[in-house]
Amino acid sequence: MQRVNISRRDFIKICIKTTALMGLPYGMYTKVAEAAEKVVKPPVVWLHFQECTGCSESLLRSNHPGLSEFILDLVSLEYHETLMAGSGTQAEKSLQNAVTEYKDSYILVIEGAIPTKENGVYCQIGGKTALELLDEMAKNAVGIISIGTCASYGGIQAVEPNPTGAVGVWDIIKDKSIINIPGCPPNPYNFLSVILYYLTFNKFPKLDKSNRPLFAYGRKIHEHCERRPHFDAGRFAEKYGDEGHKNGYCLYKLGCKGPSTFANCSVLRFNDVGVWPVSVGHPCIGCTEHSILFKKSIDEKVQIHNPTPPDTYPTTKPIERGKGADTITAAVVGTVAGAALGAGAVLAKKLPKEDDCEKEN
Ligand code: SF4
Repeated sequence: MQRVNISRRDFIKICIKTTALMGLPYGMYTKVAEAAEKVVKPPVVWLHFQECTGCSESLLRSNHPGLSEFILDLVSLEYHETLMAGSGTQAEKSLQNAVTEYKDSYILVIEGAIPTKENGVYCQIGGKTALELLDEMAKNAVGIISIGTCASYGGIQAVEPNPTGAVGVWDIIKDKSIINIPGCPPNPYNFLSVILYYLTFNKFPKLDKSNRPLFAYGRKIHEHCERRPHFDAGRFAEKYGDEGHKNGYCLYKLGCKGPSTFANCSVLRFNDVGVWPVSVGHPCIGCTEHSILFKKSIDEKVQIHNPTPPDTYPTTKPIERGKGADTITAAVVGTVAGAALGAGAVLAKKLPKEDDCEKEN
């Protein structure tokens, strides 16, 4: 950790936060820390197909203190086209070396969709199609992590009429453990937690029916949204820029997909500065749901079949303009920050336990 400039305090903070995120008891953070300190690191081969590299960018450009360094130090990254210095035949050789050296032990990470039409000719790397590369690399992998919505479900490439026949990894590979971490982009902590879970328990976490880790995708974002008190009180923004919008009211009528979207964005948020789309006034687009993203328009309202209980039962008194949303946002941000500083139990309360999640999914 010293080598990558992460203090012991930051290291423990990250371990506590990921322990809470994984739905494990607070005391387990010592086991997670022990696993993170292991000298033997799992080899990782990371392939890019049809995508924008936003998932890698989100992970690497995070503001989390040392998070990207932490992740990159946890694994032995054998091949990653964006990060590796080599190119051309040198890069292809390192990919082949990784397969030979770490046969049946490397984790394969896929970023991007796989085009299947015309035998996959629409995406080729080093003369091989994405289809061929996936097939070849999946054979000897211990498991596959599909990072981002494109690798998980096809993403924007798979939108009708889907000219390249783009699909997600799980549509092609049927005989391997596949962990989908959808999101556009996914939160780096969700990727980190899957790796730490694997290091701690030597197996991958429990998944829901969409192959997503239950600990991260077990609850709807609507449950812990800071605008939820307004939803419960019937206060909605009707148009962008109207009084309701300016006052931080619920975005449901603008098409927010939060009531149908399983993800932990409203608790975890992004970049440790407490923001996520809904906090800055944009409705959730349901980027973790393959039945929503790019299938329902931004302003289309989702049906609310089973209202989930809110995180709190707040006052229904009208809020003063400019104060309410800020106060609520600050409270939630404070909660996350508090968790990171040692009150892991607080975050754990808002995040699902593995067993809770199975009931909902
Ligand atoms: Fe938040 Fe959207 Fe639910 Fe409103 S509908 S409370 S903005 S998640």
